[in-house]
Amino acid sequence: MNADWDAVVIGAGPAGSLAARQLALRGARVLLLDKAAFPRPKVCGCCINDHALSTLRSVGLLDCILKLDAVPLRIMRLATASAHADVALEAGICLSREAFDQALVDAAGVAGAVFSPSTEAAVGDETHDGWNIRLGSDTIHARVVVIAAGLRPPSMREGNGAEPGSRIGAGATLDAAPNFYRRHVVHMACGSDGYVGIVQLEDGRWNLAAAFDRDAVRRVSGPGPLAAQIVHQAGWPALPGLEQCEWRGTVTLTRHPRRVWDRRMFLVGDAAGYVEPFTGEGIAWALASAAACVPWALRALDGWDDSLGEGWTRMHQRLIGDRQRLCRTASRVLRSPFWSAAALHAVRLVPWLASPVLRRLNAPSQFEKAMP
Ligand SMILES: Cc1cc2nc3c(=O)[nH]c(=O)nc-3n(C[C@H](O)[C@H](O)[C@H](O)COP(=O)(O)OP(=O)(O)OC[C@H]3O[C@@H](n4cnc5c(N)ncnc54)[C@H](O)[C@@H]3O)c2cc1C
Repeated sequence: MNADWDAVVIGAGPAGSLAARQLALRGARVLLLDKAAFPRPKVCGCCINDHALSTLRSVGLLDCILKLDAVPLRIMRLATASAHADVALEAGICLSREAFDQALVDAAGVAGAVFSPSTEAAVGDETHDGWNIRLGSDTIHARVVVIAAGLRPPSMREGNGAEPGSRIGAGATLDAAPNFYRRHVVHMACGSDGYVGIVQLEDGRWNLAAAFDRDAVRRVSGPGPLAAQIVHQAGWPALPGLEQCEWRGTVTLTRHPRRVWDRRMFLVGDAAGYVEPFTGEGIAWALASAAACVPWALRALDGWDDSLGEGWTRMHQRLIGDRQRLCRTASRVLRSPFWSAAALHAVRLVPWLASPVLRRLNAPSQFEKAMP
C-alpha cells in the first residue's frame, strides 16, 4: 500500500464510500479503509428514503442501486399499545446493507479510490501538511482525512458527544414471518421501552432494527425478549425465533461531537452526529454530508485555513442539523405513551396530517448550492 495519499477516508459505510468516490472523481488519490470484511451487515432498518435517493440521483448512482432488486416501500404501519395508523409512503426503498454498502464501495473503486477492507485505522500525529494514520504496525500519511467511521469515530480530540440516557440500537434478521407482515410495508411497533422496525429485504429475509432503553434490555435479559414484548404490546403476531436469534447491538445512538472538523480533517455521516433512528433518515444524512464535504476537502488539499472548518460546520448544520431537530422531536413524542397514541389517532382520522412531515423528511438537500 502507498504510504502517501491525498485523502484517507476512514469507514466505508454510505458516507465514507460516497465521499471517497466523489473525491476520486475529482482527481484525488484516495484510500478508503474499513475495519470490517465486506460485504458486512450493519444494524439498520434498511429503509432508504427519497432524500437519500435524490442524493444518489444527483451523483449518478441511483440506477446502480435500484438494479439490486430493492423493494419499493408503500406503507408505514405504526402501532402502540393503544393506537395504530397506516401512513402512505410516496417513495423510498428497502435494501439490505450488505448489498447497498457493497455497491457504494464498488462505485468508489470504479472511480479510482483504493479500498482496503479488514483494516482498522487510528488517527496518529498531525504533520505539517496532514496526518499520520496508523494501520496496525504500519503508518501512512494523508493530506486530508475524512472520518466516516459511524457512531464510534476514532480519535476525535474532544470525544464523540454521546448523549447520556440515549437509546441503544439492536438488529437481527429472520428467515420467515407470519402472513400479517407484508412486503413493501415498514412495520413499526412502538412501546415505552423502545421501538422495533420490521421490513422484508430484497432476498426475502426479514430485517429487524430497534432502538431500546438500555435499562429495559437489562431488565428483560436481552434484546430478543424486549423486541418480542414490544411487538406483543403493539397487538401484532409473534415472530417465531425473535427471542432466540442472534442480535447485534450498537453504542448509544444520539450523539453530537463538539466539532465536525479538525485541521485537514472532516467528519461526515454518523460520525458528525446522529439522532436515534425513528424517522429512518441516517443514510440520507450520511450521503448528503458526504457529497457536501467533498469541495471542502478538495480546498483543504490546497492548504488549510480554519475558515474551511468553520464553513463546513455551518454547512453541515444547515444540511443536517435542522433535519435532526425534527427527528429529535418525533423521538420525544414517541417516548410519551399519551402523545404517541394521540399522534397516531390524529393521523388515522386525518391521514394528510402526516404529509407535511413526510415532505420535509424527504426533501432533497440543496448541497450543490452551498459550496465553499
Ligand atoms: C436501529 C437502527 C435503525 C436504523 N434504521 C435506518 C433506516 O431505516 N434508514 C436510514 O436511513 N438509516 C437508518 N439508521 C441509521 C443508519 O444506519 C446510519 O445513519 C448510517 O449507516 C450512517 O452511515 P455512515 O456511513 O455514517 O456510518 P456506518 O454505516 O456506520 O459505517 C461506518 C463504517 O466505519 C467502519 N469503521 C469504524 N471505525 C473504524 C476504524 N477505526 N477504522 C476503519 N473502519 C472503521 C465500520 O466498520 C463501518 O463499516 C438506523 C440506525 C440504527 C442503529
